[in-house]
Amino acid sequence: MAALGIPQNTISILKKYDIHFQKKYGQNFLIDTHVLEKIIRAAEITGDDFVMEIGPGIGTMTQYLCENAREVLAVEIDRNLLPVLQETLSDYQNVTVLNEDILKMDIGRIAEEYNGGKPIKVVANLPYYITTPIIMELFESHVPLESVTVMVQKEVADRMQAGPGTKEYGALSLAVQYYAEAEIAANVPQNCFMPRPNVGSAVIRLICHKENPVKVLDEKFMFRLIRASFNQRRKTLQNGLCNDMGLSLKKEDVRDALEQMGLPLEVRGERLSLQEFAKLSDLLSGR
Ligand code: SAM
Repeated sequence: MAALGIPQNTISILKKYDIHFQKKYGQNFLIDTHVLEKIIRAAEITGDDFVMEIGPGIGTMTQYLCENAREVLAVEIDRNLLPVLQETLSDYQNVTVLNEDILKMDIGRIAEEYNGGKPIKVVANLPYYITTPIIMELFESHVPLESVTVMVQKEVADRMQAGPGTKEYGALSLAVQYYAEAEIAANVPQNCFMPRPNVGSAVIRLICHKENPVKVLDEKFMFRLIRASFNQRRKTLQNGLCNDMGLSLKKEDVRDALEQMGLPLEVRGERLSLQEFAKLSDLLSGR
């Protein structure tokens, strides 16, 4: 089967199956062999790896994954693409295609079934309308993960990688960095996709920590604090936390905690590192 990274091949397969791009599924197919090679290199796929691909589309990246990995599981929501995938992946014996919604799947069970419970690699050109829910679901459900290498909106990649004090820094940066080390592997312009998306894209590589970089007594509480701190970005951290009804924190407790940490009372959440949020969480949880 001809490589789909070459635009002419993608065009002819789309015509043959009369495929119309489904905007509601975030369908922007890759048509650039250099970008595909970069993704495979960034994900460091070897012949020992089991790889889960989210949204194979017409199988463009899947072909590369099959060439390089031991086994590939591709999860595609759009039923219309199944006959296409049957043809475009017909050369490979090491691939299974599941017609499912990734957000409704038990991915832990996939790792168990296909990889004996060992950490898996996830590779995807993600549908942008659900990038954050997919990534957070992978991390928060404690699926055994080695790495997640994904194409996302450039702006989202910047947020994942951002550090304290920058305008991109927020709840997503802290959540991602709690679970993984984030590194942008490539910036990808709009003309590498068909149809062209409205925004620039980037490949981000998330290497999952074997151990979380900070210890915190109550992980859930820390993330509630983080969300509350960034919900009202313009407010001081103290006001942001005290105004959050769900947290029901007393002003004097927050003030005492900030003082204990040697932070000024007017500090904003965007100044705090993950380590500082963990410490603040330990001081306030159970109050
Ligand atoms: N991997 C292909 C490529 O690089 O050309 C297609 C990428 S396209 C950006 C995203 C793909 O994810 C589409 O094929 C879309 O149908 C699929 N998709 C969207 N939502 C999904 C979901 N909830 N579960 C599984 N696949 C989904």
